Amino acid sequence: MEIYELTAREVADGIKAKKFSAEDVTRTCLARLSSLEGYLNACITVAEDSAVAKAREIDSRLARGDEIGPLAGVPYIAKDNFCSKGVRTTCSSKILENWTPTYDASAISYMNGAGAVLMAKSNLDEFAMGSSTENSIIGPTKNPRDLRRVPGGSSGGSAAAVAAGYCPIALGSDTGGSVRQPAAFCGIQGMKPSYGEVSRYGVVAYASSLDQVSPLARSVEDLAIAMEVLARPDPNDTTCDAYDRPKFSDSLSLRDLKGKRIGVFAGFGAEEIDADLYGALTSAAEHCRSAGAEIEPIDLPIAVKYGVATYYVTALADASSQLACYDGIRYGAHTDGQTLADMYSNTRTVSFGEEVRRRIILGTALLTEGYYQNYYGPALKVRTKMVKEFDDLFERFDAYLLPTSPSMPYMLGMKEEDPTRMYLGDVFTVPISLGGLPGINISMGLTGEGLPLSVQLVGQRYDDARLLGIASVIERLAGRPGIANPNLPQNAEKRRG
Ligand code: GLN
Repeated sequence: MEIYELTAREVADGIKAKKFSAEDVTRTCLARLSSLEGYLNACITVAEDSAVAKAREIDSRLARGDEIGPLAGVPYIAKDNFCSKGVRTTCSSKILENWTPTYDASAISYMNGAGAVLMAKSNLDEFAMGSSTENSIIGPTKNPRDLRRVPGGSSGGSAAAVAAGYCPIALGSDTGGSVRQPAAFCGIQGMKPSYGEVSRYGVVAYASSLDQVSPLARSVEDLAIAMEVLARPDPNDTTCDAYDRPKFSDSLSLRDLKGKRIGVFAGFGAEEIDADLYGALTSAAEHCRSAGAEIEPIDLPIAVKYGVATYYVTALADASSQLACYDGIRYGAHTDGQTLADMYSNTRTVSFGEEVRRRIILGTALLTEGYYQNYYGPALKVRTKMVKEFDDLFERFDAYLLPTSPSMPYMLGMKEEDPTRMYLGDVFTVPISLGGLPGINISMGLTGEGLPLSVQLVGQRYDDARLLGIASVIERLAGRPGIANPNLPQNAEKRRG
């Protein structure tokens, strides 16, 4: 087995046991990246020199016998909307194309503090708005399981990187599915924690009432280790709860699901969900049953019927106010104009992409007199009803299984012309975000053609540790995802953004 195929825990153990050095690991992962990046286009910036320097520092600390952290020497990649001190952070937008933060996001400093090595910043849909990683200043990322297909989004660069073996672990942000859905499309594990579990400080906001820092990995155990590093109170983010988190990795000792009740989404038939994904949902339910859980069908009528509409009203309204700070003066790009209003308008027209402009305009309209009463206000009420729908079901169930996405990864370019079609693909992820609930995408293997199958496991708010335990039992039965070795086309045009 190659070093780049190991999980984060295996890498950390190997370094501690001196089987290989942190520098070996980082160099191997950087080589893997450079052999595939021309085809995948998963990264916006590669921080090669600082990564090697950090790895060497870990090696010398280890040689001195110093205490090293749980992720010492483990390379990771962060989505390019996490502020990273001294490393350019673009959000895939022209407006921040040349912006280098002077501080680290809390999540980055926790990872670095645990000894992890920041290797690169990954591609995303501009400002995390999208589901395919096609709306980017460097162009689309390709799915490593099939280069003709999208990797999902908006954390498609992070998902593709983990699936292809650039690194065992990556950070993404999930507002309405942006970690769970690309994890599903690339065939790996990805977890959106409960809202309030992980600090969002230094993560460029898209919709603050929904955004959550979320890890991606090739094993549930690595998700638990990442959660242990990431989830803690942070006075810099008032929405990050100040309670003592459980030890997430303790939950992995769960051997079976005896006494657990798991609801399986049965609101859609095989016609409305891709047949292979419907099969994956059924086999995940079977695994739970064989592990001793009681299985029962559930419906989520409010969430599924109104989730997408409610989410897009809420998220766009949030986004319109969050993105107001890009005014041509305070941050990023600037385009002159005759008057102050012209300058604002020219800057924002020239430097925001089409989808971001669409969302800011719609979101602004939604908050004006009349639309507020007719759309934004009702959306908040439906959001409350949705939370009640979830809460009522949790009186009877420990967790639910539902699809992550209704469709398999689609061909590049397929949905570009029709944003509404893309929004509808978020039907199973956005309600979970509106409810503030934790959700884990669990890989369920590959189809005959090598395309990834998956299922989404959802738990009660703040039940993240228990959810990881259940996910680990399902993973044990379904098998841990393997690395993607993309079929490189013979004369393919090799490109870098
Ligand atoms: N696809 C959803 C959107 O475009 C979710 C994005 C996300 O979670 N950042 O808003």
